[in-house]
Amino acid sequence: MTDKDYYEILGVPRDASPEQIKKAYRKLAVKYHPDRNPENKKEAEEKFKEISEAYEVLIDPEKRHLYDTYGREGVKTRFQQGDFTWQDFSHFDDLRDIFKDLGFGFDFFDDLFGNFFGVGNRGRSHFRSKRARSKGEDIRITLPLTLEEIYRGDTKRIKSKRYGPCPVCQGSGSADGKVETCPDCNGSGMVREVSSTFFGQFVREGVCARCKGEGKIIVHPCSKCGGTGKVYEEREVEFRVPKGIRDGEYFVLRGEGHAGDRDAGRGDLVIVVSEKPHKIFLRNNEDLHVMVNIGYSEALLGTELEFTHLDGRKLKLKIPQGTKPGDAIKMKGYGLERNGIKGDLYFHIKLIVPDSISREYRGIVDRMHEEEIRFLEKTERFSKPL
Ligand SMILES: [Zn+2]
Ligand SMILES: [Zn+2]
Repeated sequence: MTDKDYYEILGVPRDASPEQIKKAYRKLAVKYHPDRNPENKKEAEEKFKEISEAYEVLIDPEKRHLYDTYGREGVKTRFQQGDFTWQDFSHFDDLRDIFKDLGFGFDFFDDLFGNFFGVGNRGRSHFRSKRARSKGEDIRITLPLTLEEIYRGDTKRIKSKRYGPCPVCQGSGSADGKVETCPDCNGSGMVREVSSTFFGQFVREGVCARCKGEGKIIVHPCSKCGGTGKVYEEREVEFRVPKGIRDGEYFVLRGEGHAGDRDAGRGDLVIVVSEKPHKIFLRNNEDLHVMVNIGYSEALLGTELEFTHLDGRKLKLKIPQGTKPGDAIKMKGYGLERNGIKGDLYFHIKLIVPDSISREYRGIVDRMHEEEIRFLEKTERFSKPL
């Protein structure tokens, strides 16, 4: 896996449109085409893979969102081996279009990817059939979270209902284990389609619809699951809340979705965050805002208050002498953490003016007024608002 920024690799701005991304990829794919770089073929192949990885992520809204939110770590879960391999590349059709326009035929394309997989043409076909087998569906759930849980990045457990392998047939879908060769594809799992186009004849290998690429069909389907190999189950999953995740954002637990057809892989569990409003804290991205009520004497003389943060930590909030209503006291780095970067915590000062006061209080305030009027007389009472 490359360490460079995907946007930099393709040379597009962070807000690039899908068209811009496509255009940039097209240009670079032509440039780094290994056959166009016979002198440094190895390097070109590496480059070609690098731009294809960037393209795979940025052209897919979901993967791009994960990347923008969590960087490389977020996308890793989307790659089968943790790092990008050609198996994760799902835009071969785009590549075929690019090279077709250059006048390269399909055979050439096949060669190219045969080489990349290191196993020749057969390898590619195998790969295609593997991908096309129906993987389990994703489950999408909305998870309400408190600001405390988001601040701390808590470990949570939730129950999710999903399709799991049938216990009667162990997910095989067959009542007795008897299978027969699929008559549609004669057991190969693949069917060939030949189409004629302006660029010549294209032979396309597709997955057999009847056996879904397995080459075999079940003779007697399991009565419990009707031959699908899966039944409904409830499962508890444990995960960590990504620190600083925002309302409406989601994260993905790979392989925690529904079971696929027979032995095909599971889908993913997609957790959408719904942030519960907090009683005290107001959130603005990673910054937190809190209102503080103080009295006259505290504004004049300053004071120290104890404050409990979202993780239960006790903080000392120092109100300096001469604090004015509307002032904000910033505690740097005490906001939410997100991708290792911390926001700030702001205390907004509000001066409390009592509606009625005791006789004793009045006596003190009257004396205070005598002092106060001396410097008030020296100031302009009225001025233009700033
Ligand atoms: Zn078949
Ligand atoms: Zn079954």
